[in-house]
Amino acid sequence: MPRIVVVGSINLDIVGLTPRLPVAGETVTGAEISRFPGGKGANQALAAQRLGAEVTLVGCVGVDSDAKDALALLREGGVNLEHVLMVDDVATGVALIAVSPSGENQIVVGPGANHHLRPEVLELPDADALICQLEVPIDTVARAATIFEGFFCVNLAPARKIDTGTLQRADLIIVNETEAAWYGEKLGICRGMVATTFGASGAILTQRGKELARAKPPDVRAIDTTAAGDTFTAALTVALVEGQAPGKALKFACAAGAAATLRPGAQPSVPTREEIKVLL
Ligand code: ADP
Repeated sequence: MPRIVVVGSINLDIVGLTPRLPVAGETVTGAEISRFPGGKGANQALAAQRLGAEVTLVGCVGVDSDAKDALALLREGGVNLEHVLMVDDVATGVALIAVSPSGENQIVVGPGANHHLRPEVLELPDADALICQLEVPIDTVARAATIFEGFFCVNLAPARKIDTGTLQRADLIIVNETEAAWYGEKLGICRGMVATTFGASGAILTQRGKELARAKPPDVRAIDTTAAGDTFTAALTVALVEGQAPGKALKFACAAGAAATLRPGAQPSVPTREEIKVLL
């Protein structure tokens, strides 16, 4: 099984199912509140671990009770947390998510400790693959890409300016439809493969603008698509590092993303390899 290191964000998601979304200055009561472990880095780490990889997460949390809740499922799942730094006098990352009955949402993120994952404190364990996203300082992603020697996957989410050196270092770049539009032509000249995801319509894998493969997820009754993209990212990386051919790996990743839509919340929805096999 591949050894994977994930450098990224760790958040606690506080989700309110509200009768309707408030307008500015308004208070809406009657919401049903749940707390879920989340953050793109943490979600991707758990997804890779549930697929059978041996995963180390590199990130930052505060010294508070939210940190314990944010790390609970990672700990339970067996992700190595020895490289998660606890930062004094700063809050663990929190996402406040209001969801209306029709599924529309409003999200406010307080990155807190995630912004303290600076290049100076970065230490990477030895691994076969590195996965990064963009919810931590961009110069830390650049530093990780430079010092790591194995397979490098970067999920360009949320869309932010990123240096060409990091893009060219990537063996695999992953974007959703919106992010792909934001980066535009830039991705077509990258050396590595680029996977673009299109929600229920699946995903396309290209290299230097040429199509390598396309795949569709199995038909599912999606309940909550949170962490579908994160699960897709982990699954595609694990499958490629395992040596699966691009077409097969993309199909597996699409099924993994679909499987993540079947339960509410970020990390509770991350599927095991067995659950993905059943869908395939
Ligand atoms: P993101 O969450 O980053 O916006 P997408 O919504 O494109 O990413 O989802 C990533 C992958 O998850 C898709 O390529 C697809 O395989 C799967 N997926 C997402 N939404 C659905 C859905 N409603 N039904 C089936 N599969 C889905």
